[in-house]
Amino acid sequence: MSKNIIVAIDGPAASGKSTAAKRLAKALGFLYLDTGAMYRAITYTVLKKNIFDNLEKIFELVKNLELKLKFEDGVTRVFVDGEEVTNQIRTPEVSGKVSEISRIPEVRAEMVKLQRKLAEQGDLVAEGRDITTVVFPEADVKIFMTASLDERARRRFKEHQERGEQVTYEEVKENLVKRDKIDSSREVSPLRKAEDAVELDTTNLSVDEELQRMIELVNKARK
Ligand code: C5P
Repeated sequence: MSKNIIVAIDGPAASGKSTAAKRLAKALGFLYLDTGAMYRAITYTVLKKNIFDNLEKIFELVKNLELKLKFEDGVTRVFVDGEEVTNQIRTPEVSGKVSEISRIPEVRAEMVKLQRKLAEQGDLVAEGRDITTVVFPEADVKIFMTASLDERARRRFKEHQERGEQVTYEEVKENLVKRDKIDSSREVSPLRKAEDAVELDTTNLSVDEELQRMIELVNKARK
């Protein structure tokens, strides 16, 4: 049996990774993995249990919690110990704290283990911050997705508005800047463009153009 194909996508917050990765997975019939949802689910649980300042308890939590992702009808449904937290992990509160939790090396080590396991199940499109550099450095296709800060803030603000969440455009923009800074400067697995990743700036691309570019990259890798 030939080995599974892996498409790895990294990039700053709200650069369009999830939309692009989902559409690509659907078009190719690949599995889709939103690794940010995993870090968000841990953060949501840490906040709920009120253990944000207790590293020991956070270590214990990541080792013991049961995290499940189900990708259905274009949505990643997330479950922690059987409880669905799909909507709760996208709130401004979780976005405000997730980078502090995901900089903890022990948290990352557990998540990376889970992510690699998934790649054994079939061809995969995975997206996050360390997918091209640490989780799947041997991926068949590596993409570094970017977009201007204003465009990213606009896209994320629209999502919050659609969910009826009370947050201003400025707050959304500030959160993106803060997260990118922490994510890119942390000691373990910082966000950076892998040397052999193809940069895709989506600021002025339609989602169809984005998909076309990615399919071309996959076809090239398959040859
Ligand atoms: O992709 P999303 O914006 O939902 O990710 C939320 C946060 O999770 C990021 O800001 C980052 O702190 C963390 N993350 C990470 N490594 C990944 C995916 C996400 O550190 N592979």
